[in-house]
Amino acid sequence: MRPFKYVRASDPNAAAGAVAANPLAKFLAGGTNLLDLMKEDVERPNELVDLTRLKMREIRPERGGVSIGALATNTETANHPLIRSNYPLLTQAIVAGASGQIRNMATNGGNLLQRTRCQYFYDTAMPCNKREPGTGCGAREGLNRIHAIFGWSDKCVATYPGDMANALYALDAVVRVRGAGGVERTIPVDEFHRLPGDTPEKDNNLRHGELIVAIELPKSSFARNAYYLKVRDRASYAFALVAVAAALELDGGTIRQARVVLGSVAHKPWRSREAEAALSGKPLSEESFRRAAEAALAEAKPLAHNAYKVELGKRAVVRALMRAGKLA
Ligand SMILES: Cc1cc2nc3c(=O)[nH]c(=O)nc-3n(C[C@H](O)[C@H](O)[C@H](O)COP(=O)(O)OP(=O)(O)OC[C@H]3O[C@@H](n4cnc5c(N)ncnc54)[C@H](O)[C@@H]3O)c2cc1C
Ligand code: SF4
Repeated sequence: MRPFKYVRASDPNAAAGAVAANPLAKFLAGGTNLLDLMKEDVERPNELVDLTRLKMREIRPERGGVSIGALATNTETANHPLIRSNYPLLTQAIVAGASGQIRNMATNGGNLLQRTRCQYFYDTAMPCNKREPGTGCGAREGLNRIHAIFGWSDKCVATYPGDMANALYALDAVVRVRGAGGVERTIPVDEFHRLPGDTPEKDNNLRHGELIVAIELPKSSFARNAYYLKVRDRASYAFALVAVAAALELDGGTIRQARVVLGSVAHKPWRSREAEAALSGKPLSEESFRRAAEAALAEAKPLAHNAYKVELGKRAVVRALMRAGKLA
């Protein structure tokens, strides 16, 4: 591990200011992703600004919805009564991720910013445009079984691996961030992460030095009929091959509106507005769900080793919707 300066931030503005002032500085929260990447020599910050003493852990009602502090742990968030009762999809998604020990350390801000699990990204002997721009993409013509089927570019075919964000996309969350000088702005979560395009080194639309202070959830009509399905290689902790966050708002036996977000299929959680449109106004039935699944995967562009994700994705969408609609 390379040497780095350690700074304990006294308040959010000081934290944002310290990182903004040094292009090689990074925030440190639970450290469950950043420290691993530093040990692998993938991330090379020369300064870590520790956020863990900041008062950004609160989970509280706000404007009919809920505000979740960026430093609340994944465990605290998943178990909070407001989340369990009003946003059970978020609880399910968080609990599907990592292990109990990791969720106790991992924070919500760090979870949103976790980096890809592409094996070439971790292997510093291999080319990787995300790790070192301009070196090439080992996975494009290499082993790409876990990689993207939507939105990839020739520069990068990696996926965003997280679970929590898939639920946040389905719930129309907003990310509140604060820059140096205390200036705040909000970013709708579906504009937070980026597709790789020509700049895969940029995972998201945060500016350097911007601190995530909270994640805001609007009032939701999806509490009763929602389900998070994660398909992975093994039942103990593992990242998703395909995940689906599904939510339905029902009017008797008719679907008033739906949310369908696929995880681990693109460089960001992949909200399928095609599937949602296919479900709107339709009867609550397996047939409606099958049509939605076809719509969700119609534009998939698999790579050499991940065509299985197309059929898997369709089946996962149907199964998640069946569970959300309480038909299975
Ligand atoms: C073995 C293992 C298995 C895992 N399995 C899963 C899984 O199945 N599903 C899943 O979703 N995740 C999984 N994870 C990932 C885990 O959820 C993340 O590592 C964790 O959520 C990151 O949070 P952290 O607080 O530890 O972040 P850190 O590691 O401290 O930080 C991560 C990044 O976020 C930045 N950052 C942190 N907080 C802020 C903030 N408030 N504002 C701006 N920047 C910030 C840091 O600078 C860093 O770049 C797994 C991790 C491990 C180690
Ligand atoms: S897919 Fe992206 S992260 Fe993986 S090797 Fe290619 S450029 Fe790097």
